Amino acid sequence: MKAVLVVLDGLGDRRCRSLNWMTPLQAARSPFLDRLAAMGETGLIDVVAPGLPNGSDTGHLALLGYDPFKWYTGRGPFEALGAGLTLTDTDVAFRCNFATVSADGAVLDRRAGRISSEESRVLAEAIPPMHFDGVEIIFKHTVEHRGVLIMRGDGLSHKVSNVDPHGRETKVLKPKPLDESTEANRTAQLLQQYLEKTRQILENHPVNLKRKQNGLPPANYILTRGAGRLPNLPSFREKYGLSAAVVAGGALYKGVCRAAGFEVVNVEGATGTVNTNLNNKAAAVVESLKRHDFVLLHIKATDTLSHDKKPRDKAEMIRKIDAVLEKMYESLPPDTHIAVTGDHSTPSEIGDHRGDPVPVLIYGPQVRGDDVKYFDEISCAKGGIGRIRGTDLMTIIANYVGALELFGE
Ligand SMILES: [Zn+2]
Repeated sequence: MKAVLVVLDGLGDRRCRSLNWMTPLQAARSPFLDRLAAMGETGLIDVVAPGLPNGSDTGHLALLGYDPFKWYTGRGPFEALGAGLTLTDTDVAFRCNFATVSADGAVLDRRAGRISSEESRVLAEAIPPMHFDGVEIIFKHTVEHRGVLIMRGDGLSHKVSNVDPHGRETKVLKPKPLDESTEANRTAQLLQQYLEKTRQILENHPVNLKRKQNGLPPANYILTRGAGRLPNLPSFREKYGLSAAVVAGGALYKGVCRAAGFEVVNVEGATGTVNTNLNNKAAAVVESLKRHDFVLLHIKATDTLSHDKKPRDKAEMIRKIDAVLEKMYESLPPDTHIAVTGDHSTPSEIGDHRGDPVPVLIYGPQVRGDDVKYFDEISCAKGGIGRIRGTDLMTIIANYVGALELFGE
């Protein structure tokens, strides 16, 4: 038997004033998800720990059964893997933004006016791999203003602070060692040298000269954050006896799954934005499940609309997703198990992650069921799964599809 896990990013929410004190999931017309909840089993998940707001990186690690407290060092390596780069165990990887920084170091725009993918790509081509004291530093552009940076060599540490101040009109930060080690100190120093050097290249690049002429902010600085090392995860197949694939738009989700040994399925039009092609992604799930036992489908739009503080649009997006999932499920083998949940709560009247648990449903021929009739945060609190941690979810799914070996005898 096979299974599909649908992760709707930032799905969990709170009661919203603008939705008559309902959550977006309660307010959304989602007859398919409600039917699955009514036929299947429901509950709540504390994705990382009760009350602890978590990121998408730690959230996905947990949902796949990897304790983030044990495995997580930073987001950088997952972004790099998701962008198609290969990392060694000793590489230190960062996620980065092209930004606009003034002559005296003030961050004027941390996304360089949301510079286009095309302009960013040309700028990135002007930045060659550089060597400082035996360490190679490689920059790769991904989408829009975003990219990843890899430091490769001996004697490096991921314990370096963010350069990105994460706010407007503040000074660009210098990378600082986060512990006393000579490795952290050296890594911070080499990174600073690299950032100064790339700044010189970027400042006078024709793309930026043209942007300045047109009154647009130049992309003259690389802001790094999320330094981390690739965790040596035991493979998903080892853990659960399941061969797996991921269908996602965003690099992070592909990266976490790639670190766990998943096949990464690239889908045309899967952008990781609200304009993503949901139908293509659903079709890719159906195709991938022919080759694998388990497919993770990730949809980002629910989180994006929460960050934009648009509870009504979030509910509308859930309605659209509901219709696409129904069509997808009809195309899957009839004994396929399906689970739907989120990687964290993003209350859409706050616009940021919070530590509230997320609802979960599991439906399939082997599922016992409960009395819950609707898929939402409040109904699922009464469900048969009860309240579990994120790291428990995959064991429950793998049990239903009969993939687990006996513990004991
Ligand atoms: Zn997320």
